[in-house]
Amino acid sequence: MMVNLLDFDLPGLIGWCEGLGEKKFRATQLFRWVHQRGVRDFDQMTDLARDFRAKLHQLAEIRELPVLQRQDSSDGTIKWLFDVGDGNAIESVFIPEDDRATLCVSSQAGCAVGCRFCSTGHQGFSRNLTTAEILAQLWFVEHTLRREFGLQQRIISNVVMMGMGEPLQNYAALVPALRTMLDDHAYGLSRRRVTVSTSGVVPMMDRLAQDCPVALAVSLHAPLDDLRDALVPINRKYPIAELLDACRRYLPAAPRDFITFEYCMLDGVNDQPEHAQALINLLQLRGSAGVPCKLNLIPFNPFPASGLKRSPTEAVQTFARLLMKAGIVTTVRKTRGDDIDAACGQLAGDVLDRTDVQRRVARQRTIEIIRAQA
Ligand code: SF4
Repeated sequence: MMVNLLDFDLPGLIGWCEGLGEKKFRATQLFRWVHQRGVRDFDQMTDLARDFRAKLHQLAEIRELPVLQRQDSSDGTIKWLFDVGDGNAIESVFIPEDDRATLCVSSQAGCAVGCRFCSTGHQGFSRNLTTAEILAQLWFVEHTLRREFGLQQRIISNVVMMGMGEPLQNYAALVPALRTMLDDHAYGLSRRRVTVSTSGVVPMMDRLAQDCPVALAVSLHAPLDDLRDALVPINRKYPIAELLDACRRYLPAAPRDFITFEYCMLDGVNDQPEHAQALINLLQLRGSAGVPCKLNLIPFNPFPASGLKRSPTEAVQTFARLLMKAGIVTTVRKTRGDDIDAACGQLAGDVLDRTDVQRRVARQRTIEIIRAQA
């Protein structure tokens, strides 16, 4: 089988090229052609020696993920469904905002954690993605949109590992993918703009701090262990106190001086004033027990199998007010791509037809925003 060059971070590619008798700088040139310029055809890599290109033709390829489907939302959000074989599909979501353009990337086909409010969790786990399959999402979306929008400059400014899967349960494939996202010879993203979201795989949080510290988001969703046990089952293995200890250990290595906590608002389950108070008590313990943090309140996107409902707007506002009054920086996440089931926790939805007009208007707005950011 041909080697997929998307499987390598730069040190990996250098090692592979050296095995072919090629110098280190040739590997760097190749890496730049693939990731910075999105070129798949070795013949277009004009500064590579002819005999090196001949070897590449024989041995290697840049293997894309087949696109099963694309949906464009009226708000500019775009969702792709990629085929990863054996009947498995994963999703990536592009979310343009005024000051950034974010790609939400999947790390696994399905997920073994089984959070109650998450439609991916309800599907069960199929398999880990390879490094190439993780990076292929970024590679494809970045270069596809550059071509479509007629732009030369970088489009995606932020990556969040918040698509399908628990990234820290696919650690070996994740780290080379993160390193490539950060590499100046590839996407050159700042550590602050690459976020790994975890349900709380404590030992791997410690390893990430050592190996590739990027921004960290922790799916908290409950302030008390018995409630979190029911919503995020991994809590039975790594309960809240252990999770917060791991957050504190992560902070010295982190590119930001806070941890982001995600909190999905579920009607009558975790959205009452007493939950807000318990959260305040948990996060604001003085001295060594507190955690510098920001809290993201996420409107739940209902799906039939969950048996859960979205919290009413007033409940969310009351909850947010209580936290802010206690001095905890709190934001209520806007739902994006609602009309294409691309919102958080919805990455397994049905297909809906959208009009070309919606797509054109949204695309024009996105191009204007990205030009303004340049
Ligand atoms: S929320 Fe994340 S960790 Fe939990 S089941 Fe869904 S994909 Fe897995």
